[in-house]
Amino acid sequence: MAELQDILDQIAAEMATRADRGKVADYIPQLARIDPKQFGIAVALPDGSVLSAGDAGTPFSIQSISKVFTLAIALGRLGDQLWRRVGREPSGNPFNSIVQLEQEHGRPRNPFINAGAIAVTDAILEGYEPKEILGELLRFIRLAANDTDIHINKAVAQSEAATGDRNFALAHFMRGFGNLRNSPERALGTYFHQCAVEMTCVQLARAGMFLTNAPGQPRLISVERVRRICAMMMMCGHYDASGDFAFKVGLPGKSGVGGGILMIAPGRASIALWSPGLNARGNSQLGTDAAEILARGTGWSVFSGRH
Ligand code: GLN
Repeated sequence: MAELQDILDQIAAEMATRADRGKVADYIPQLARIDPKQFGIAVALPDGSVLSAGDAGTPFSIQSISKVFTLAIALGRLGDQLWRRVGREPSGNPFNSIVQLEQEHGRPRNPFINAGAIAVTDAILEGYEPKEILGELLRFIRLAANDTDIHINKAVAQSEAATGDRNFALAHFMRGFGNLRNSPERALGTYFHQCAVEMTCVQLARAGMFLTNAPGQPRLISVERVRRICAMMMMCGHYDASGDFAFKVGLPGKSGVGGGILMIAPGRASIALWSPGLNARGNSQLGTDAAEILARGTGWSVFSGRH
């Protein structure tokens, strides 16, 4: 796989030269302090190896990438009942938009926009304590990554709670429509902590392997659920830029405002990219560019016809 390592090295070298690196999320004060000069990429392969380049060993806040893991847990717990609470269509709106929520009577469009993810966390919280749910999430991620050194950064969670007015608005709105069973404080307290999980690109790439359906991987969820989660990632994983990501990259992906992207090449690889500066749509600017170069270099787009 020397060739793949060359591609990663070239991508990291090119990203190091980029002057326009986007803007670090500043609505979460703890994230505003992160140095935008960083870039990392890691690719996990079915044989257990992980290739990487750049700052792939630096932990970052996974933020909305956590929504993939909570969706997997929620589908395991509730099965198709979950879709009563949340839809599965692209929203065409920013991740924290409230507009559709009113028009659609408090049922969020999909599990990856904030409202949808809050509803998913609320659903798995029923009958449990926030601590138990966060423990289950960490166990799931650590098992998937085969790495116990993965933690929640409480300062990031608290920082977001202190400035989380928009998420509180979404949660109250849903509760007003009967689509939130816990109090907004309880649901969001859990949600902010799940978003504050920190991982390196290497850990995240490993953790995504269960979504590749590649032979020999730990079967954390069924083959069918993997297929469905990847479909959601392709359609909704980059919010109102999901169409553009599918157009340019052609792989299911999920971004977070920490600047991370988890991307799946079904049957082949799990890829993590990270650069903290965001583009206008709230997705990693260099991460998105690097994903496009990687997809072109490897021919891994699911639409390439190569298998
Ligand atoms: N914790 C962030 C929020 O709710 C997650 C958003 C994101 O990563 N896009 O605003």
